[in-house]
Amino acid sequence: MRHLLPIASAGIALLVGVFLIFVRTDRREATFFPMGPIPVKVVAFDRTIFQFHRDVETVRSRVDELARIFNRHDPGSELAELNREASTKSVPACPEMRELLELSREWRRKTGGAFDPTVGPLVDVWSEAGEAHELPTAAKLAEVRGRVGLPFVESSADGKIRFSRKGMSLDFGAIAKGAIVDEAAAVLLIRGVRRGLVEAGGDGVAFGPGTFQFGIQDPVAKAGAGIIGTIEAEAGAVVTSGSYERFIEIAGKRFSHIIDPRTGRPAENGIVSATVVGGAAADADALATALMVLPLSESIGLLKEQGAFQALLIRKGDGGAMEIRMSEALSPKVYLERRWAASVQTF
Ligand code: ADP
Ligand code: MG
Repeated sequence: MRHLLPIASAGIALLVGVFLIFVRTDRREATFFPMGPIPVKVVAFDRTIFQFHRDVETVRSRVDELARIFNRHDPGSELAELNREASTKSVPACPEMRELLELSREWRRKTGGAFDPTVGPLVDVWSEAGEAHELPTAAKLAEVRGRVGLPFVESSADGKIRFSRKGMSLDFGAIAKGAIVDEAAAVLLIRGVRRGLVEAGGDGVAFGPGTFQFGIQDPVAKAGAGIIGTIEAEAGAVVTSGSYERFIEIAGKRFSHIIDPRTGRPAENGIVSATVVGGAAADADALATALMVLPLSESIGLLKEQGAFQALLIRKGDGGAMEIRMSEALSPKVYLERRWAASVQTF
């Protein structure tokens, strides 16, 4: 009889274990790669392992779909087709494309043209210049600038898009990642996840009660090599745009991958990284890109107008040392290493 006791206890332990696997909700995390090397991380806090597995599958197929629509470099994508054909005829566009275009118009207006997804031809000229190690000529830049500008993109009431200049190219690289993480978070919410977050290559959005922590990447260290502090924010976006990971180099000089659509030249406002906190990630993404283009004083003015967003900007100061400028309202949410904390000025 006595020897049956351990067997019975082991049996009960096994049953409890199996039961826990089925019902236990916990912080769960998954990462996948729908956009080349850019990881998409999905986190949910109140799901069983089985629920989460299905959450991730659903998010994944929706993200794959969107990533395919907006990949300008995939000749089979809807965006590539639009860029090929919209100079000669009106092209039907899917709802996602029209929505992102309209949101882009809003942000172009709010940023005075610093954000403009028609920069595609300029992005191409500068990336070719980087490969050839030779600056584009003034004549070339002037010609290309003539086919950049969102007002040259016409949307009709029947959902079609047409370019009014030849050789235009929409590039949603500065807003699509944000829109994709927003959509992924919406999918999780619809599936019943009450608290979670989605992050893709510097674009994050969190939802649900409580606060969430995001690392602030070191602008000097190599990508992913370190953080200079953390932001602890409530639900909403935390999106970073930076020139430290992607840049082109010509004759020893580094140029940003972000272009000022108004001058046709790579952005050169001294900001090496702009983190926007608040709102939806698509908005924060567009805004973060504009903050890499506009002069600091204009960025501060814009942020004060757009009350829903705060920003942390890392800039190269006049003496060459890195310093931080950030919204006053971020102060209680940001924890910085001492070296960086000493350089902060708020606005
Ligand atoms: P990242 O996440 O790469 O730091 P962004 O969100 O700022 O960057 O997006 C940068 C990308 O957006 C560029 O690679 C280019 O494709 C496109 N882009 C560059 N300059 C602009 C601009 N001024 N407005 C809109 N899109 C831009
Ligand atoms: Mg952006």
